[in-house]
Amino acid sequence: MQFDEPLRRKLIEAVAATVIAHAEELTDLDQAIGDGDHGLNMKRGFEAVLADLDKIAAQPLPKMLQMAGTTLVMKVGGASGPLYGTLFLQLGKSLPADPTLADAESAFAAAIEAVKARGKSDVGAKTLLDVLAPVLAALRDGVADVPGAADAAAEATKPIQATRGRASFLGPRSIGHVDPGARSSALIVRAVCGVLAGQA
Ligand code: ADP
Ligand code: MG
Repeated sequence: MQFDEPLRRKLIEAVAATVIAHAEELTDLDQAIGDGDHGLNMKRGFEAVLADLDKIAAQPLPKMLQMAGTTLVMKVGGASGPLYGTLFLQLGKSLPADPTLADAESAFAAAIEAVKARGKSDVGAKTLLDVLAPVLAALRDGVADVPGAADAAAEATKPIQATRGRASFLGPRSIGHVDPGARSSALIVRAVCGVLAGQA
């Protein structure tokens, strides 16, 4: 698929729009098992990306993702800023300018490994990794409804007891709530898939 400038703009705009539109929901989730800033953190980060939209979307896809990642590291803050920053930075480093689905899968796998290393974390700790890893598996398995798989994976963080991040301080009281980072990841996945489906 060719990732020309209009498509690159659409991707950034769609991801930023959904994160900003759901900021309150993300904050509510973080209020239950964290400090209630995840929505605000993510909104601030993606507003900063949007503020630089012309400059960022003008770059080829790998550079665009790295610029967005750097902005997220600087602006989101909290635990999720460096983690989402790492995700986008590594995607940018691993992807060619016009990736195939196979390119996207291997770059996404590399990005997930980078997030694991950055967060000293893995699947099952009630974090965004509990959405990212199942989404990669869904892509590899050729699952038709990838956004649906992402939503289901976010929902499936509810019964997990958190062992990483702020929610882990709650111990068993972290059970019964969707992880805010898992939810923001599912939102981002749905936005990206929506734009790319429109291109196919
Ligand atoms: P903070 O926890 O510093 O307030 P945010 O509220 O913005 O930061 O982000 C919280 C989210 O970050 C969690 O819901 C979780 O998904 C993710 N997270 C936190 N710590 C880790 C970690 N070590 N590895 C992976 N993800 C993590
Ligand atoms: Mg928080």
